[in-house]
Amino acid sequence: MAPVSNALCDLHRWIADHHRVFVLTGAGCSTASGIPDYRDDDGEWKRRPPVMFQAFRAQESTYRRYWARAYAGWPRFTAAQPGAAHHAFAAWERAGTLARLVTQNVDGLHQRAGSRAVIDLHGRLDVVVCLGCGERTSRASVQEAMATMAAANLRAVAGVGAPSAAEWNATAVTAPDGDADIDERVIERFAAPRCERCGGLLKPDVVFFGENVPSARYEDARAALAAADALLVAGSSLMVYSGFRFVKQAHEAGLPIAIINRGRTRGDELANLKVEGDVGTVLTEVVGAVPPRR
Ligand SMILES: [Zn+2]
Repeated sequence: MAPVSNALCDLHRWIADHHRVFVLTGAGCSTASGIPDYRDDDGEWKRRPPVMFQAFRAQESTYRRYWARAYAGWPRFTAAQPGAAHHAFAAWERAGTLARLVTQNVDGLHQRAGSRAVIDLHGRLDVVVCLGCGERTSRASVQEAMATMAAANLRAVAGVGAPSAAEWNATAVTAPDGDADIDERVIERFAAPRCERCGGLLKPDVVFFGENVPSARYEDARAALAAADALLVAGSSLMVYSGFRFVKQAHEAGLPIAIINRGRTRGDELANLKVEGDVGTVLTEVVGAVPPRR
């Protein structure tokens, strides 16, 4: 492997050589913002795999567990601020040669850093959709409703006090999907939210494991890739097929592919350039020197 400084020079040249770059980002862009990655350097799960959509919809206990953990993880999730990677991508977009940014993250941090050409491939956690009537609401208002219900519910249970701060305080850091580890007894007592209009199940407007990316959104991303002259993957192990298929598509179209990631990825063998390292650190060095488009 080439020394890091050579890799940075190569990446700088690669970025300068392309004028309509399609960027695919993953959890590695948000780790510096305090939202940890799902997987370790070998692409293995670091924590319990996320909930499957089929179980979420069919099993009341899974639904309640999901929302109890999400309720606990939300304050920390929303406190996350854009990091170096997000700012570097926004600056690169302003320079004019980053054509489209497709993110697998659901945290909205690219947009908060100023990126505009974003496709949220797996949706956004700050929006909630009803599986019954399709009504969309803000996650903030569902969070508020859950807080009210939690207080009322716990008052009604004889001998059970309100959960202590420690009970609601996640014992582990939150996950990329806002999940958090909390006490099982707290989960059992938790009243999961329902749609205020029809009583249906509520689901964050994100693509769960076991679900497909909505086809119109996928087609948008695919068209953007077809119009691009290169693909850069940043901070993703590409273990999820919905991201990896863009790398396959780029490879089949003969597009140059570069990858910045800490640890191996499923796309390494298809890449022309691989830079090992933290996305924010690497891009801050390289993008600062991107020439503006003429
Ligand atoms: Zn509804």
